Amino acid sequence: MNTLAPGLSWVDLLFLGRRHAIATVVIRDAGSVALIDPGPARCLDTLDLGMQAQGLRLSDVTDLLLTHIHLDHAGATGTLVRMHPKIRVVVHERGAPHMADPSKLLASATRLYGDRMDELWGAFEPVPERNMLVVAGGEQIEAAGRTFEIAHTPGHASHHVSYFDRSSGVAFVGDTGGVCIDGGYILPPTPPPDIDIEAWRSSVARIEAWSPAAIFMTHFGPVSNPRTHLMTLLHNLDTVAGLVRTRLSEAGTDEEQSRRFADDLRRELRTNMTEAQVASYMAAAPLELVWLGLARYWRKKVAR
Ligand SMILES: [Zn+2]
Repeated sequence: MNTLAPGLSWVDLLFLGRRHAIATVVIRDAGSVALIDPGPARCLDTLDLGMQAQGLRLSDVTDLLLTHIHLDHAGATGTLVRMHPKIRVVVHERGAPHMADPSKLLASATRLYGDRMDELWGAFEPVPERNMLVVAGGEQIEAAGRTFEIAHTPGHASHHVSYFDRSSGVAFVGDTGGVCIDGGYILPPTPPPDIDIEAWRSSVARIEAWSPAAIFMTHFGPVSNPRTHLMTLLHNLDTVAGLVRTRLSEAGTDEEQSRRFADDLRRELRTNMTEAQVASYMAAAPLELVWLGLARYWRKKVAR
């Protein structure tokens, strides 16, 4: 079992058949179970099996704490609420409208993933407003016998929040802590549309202010040296953003620039990692999306 602390564990959703691409956190006490980021509906069977291995069932779930509403984190939320209508969903105020009516979210995801939407994510069902606890950051909530402090941590997504459980010292930071699979490269996932490097820096400072003993990333798992990890993440964010900026300034079509950038980054990733590790990175943060999000960031900055 993947245990962080008594009552705190996680399930590997084996997204696209890859180990260590997406994790769901499981928090339990005597009468209730909370999940942080249930993942896409496509992985619900794996989540179910993973919970069974821990002696739990999906029908035990009382709370879903969403770090943000991207499909790889929140896709299964509506389906779980339909199956178990008493579930409470915690979500940031900017994400909540899209959980109630996912049409715009799905249209923008379809522009990125095209006809692979169903194969990757499965269904994305709406969440009734009455099930949602809408937060702004700064609140404390109780879930599965624990108190979680909530901070608004934009940068990766404007509606991203992180959750801190002071009793265990673990901060659940979603994508704000980057992608780091099996001790590999600490990659900032930067999909469109709202990458904001300055906001990301402030969010990292906000997480550090908690002085967590460990942080937990959706992609993938816990790290017990948060300060070094987060410093490296910000360093790598500058490096990757710099690669995008350089390629953007060169001649060529968008497609040529994007391809050159993907080659740059793949080379950077392969330096210290195995092919299997790189493949899990591609599942968690496709390089085309890393390019698109940062290219959009730079273009907006120039236009300001
Ligand atoms: Zn995300």
